[in-house]
Amino acid sequence: MLPGNLWRRQRPLPVARQAVRGEPPARRGRRRTIYSIMWRNIRTGVDTPSVLCYKGKGGERPFPGRCLSAALPDCEVLLAMPGLAVVGAQWGDEGKGKIVDYLAAQADVVVRYAGGNNAGHTVVACGQTVKLHLIPSGILYPEATCVIGNGAVIDPEVLVQELDALRARGFQTARLFISDRAHLIMPYHRDQDRLEEEARGAYKLGTTGRGVGPAYADKVAREGIRCADLLDEAWLEQRLQAVVPRKSLLLQKLYGHRGYTVAEMMEYCRRFAPQLLPLLADTGELVQEALAQGRRVLYEGAQGTLLDVDHGTYPYVTGSSPAAGGVYPGVGVGPGAVTHVLGVAKAYTTRVGMGPFPTELTDAGGDWLRERGGEYGTTTGRPRRCGWLDAVQLRYAVRVNGITQLALTKLDVLTGLETVRVAVGYEVDGRRVDRVPALLPEMSRVQPIYEDLPGWSEPIHAAERWEDLPEAARGFIARIEELTGVPVVCVSVGPGREQTLVKGSISW
Ligand code: IMP
Repeated sequence: MLPGNLWRRQRPLPVARQAVRGEPPARRGRRRTIYSIMWRNIRTGVDTPSVLCYKGKGGERPFPGRCLSAALPDCEVLLAMPGLAVVGAQWGDEGKGKIVDYLAAQADVVVRYAGGNNAGHTVVACGQTVKLHLIPSGILYPEATCVIGNGAVIDPEVLVQELDALRARGFQTARLFISDRAHLIMPYHRDQDRLEEEARGAYKLGTTGRGVGPAYADKVAREGIRCADLLDEAWLEQRLQAVVPRKSLLLQKLYGHRGYTVAEMMEYCRRFAPQLLPLLADTGELVQEALAQGRRVLYEGAQGTLLDVDHGTYPYVTGSSPAAGGVYPGVGVGPGAVTHVLGVAKAYTTRVGMGPFPTELTDAGGDWLRERGGEYGTTTGRPRRCGWLDAVQLRYAVRVNGITQLALTKLDVLTGLETVRVAVGYEVDGRRVDRVPALLPEMSRVQPIYEDLPGWSEPIHAAERWEDLPEAARGFIARIEELTGVPVVCVSVGPGREQTLVKGSISW
């Protein structure tokens, strides 16, 4: 039997011992149960992941992989490692924090794999509004182990402030671990971010000014300072000697900054080391062990696909890889470690910072969405640019991330509109384009081709079941499913945990 709740067992159970050969799992009473499995070739030892969907009624249906009756030759079935990545499908601020918070109740481990305190996750938990920038939202549940992976960048000042604020509000923080391979955001990164933005003038990117971009740039330039460096003062000093004088020179010569000395930076590191060092761990190993024991791991994305340094609207992007592919380098696990990807999208679109935004509303419509949706940045307080849902961009996000299911947030914000618009394609220079162009001037010129759908006037924030949603709202959701080819399994109708509707179940 391969029931989902076996994955919840807390005691170690080696994957190999869970193997069953060619035997379908017992049907369960639930309407639809989706299993992730791994096929292991008993001759070669090679594992192939696959996803199955069994229906309680009406037989079994493959989704989207092969079904068990078409078992691979010479293969036995292993329980898969249940890893769910939750990624932003737009330009960030999709409401991932709320969805992660909802799912974290079932998670054994919640891992942040990219970004820094440029992110802002607002979660309403136990009647309290909690704003998190760096620490995974799973911290609000005392049972979940929380991890900041090596792919994230850590501002120690922000980390300590966030930990203190959580403790002051009664949340437990003892289960937080930080990768010893994660890079630090140093004071000179914050200054560099701000000064570079000023110097860019008309070409500015609209960064959050938190030093995230310069910290990632230094990581790739092999000039970063990692958390593990704090463990050895002599080595730390050697690293700072290699980096700080040249960084200071750059700041002084280019921007007239006073620069920093190695001694100042040593002092800075010494100030935060006592609080950081006890949290350090080889978190890749920690996550891998949890997966091997069949524990549920949630990979918490920050920012969004269109801000990804590779797949976003470059150069108006962040410095990291928030797309699902960023999980592997950002956590230190292999491809089998992500079995499902949940894309989170708002029922409309927002963006902060500069860069193209095809469905942006620069008129009163945009102001209406901003006020109705409270669209002001969690991190910087900046007003967000607002516009209609863009299905071209969503399809792109589905492909880039391998999204298998979607969560749609802030559906309640659209209540009261006579017509709801969705961009179904783009037109550029008289041609129809159904993809996101790589060339930025082309992306900036595209005109959305809209489809108008009927709106709804009934308030939906109190809806408790999918069926409580007005027909027009369900029609809107169904159209998104058609346009993206992915099921919408979750809808959020307000900020509270209870204002989350799930259709069937979220595959994990
Ligand atoms: P940076 O990540 O601070 O370098 O900013 C680069 C771009 O990403 C800017 O347009 C920011 O506004 C945007 N950005 C970074 N983090 C977030 C986020 O969490 N939500 C939305 N936009 C973000």
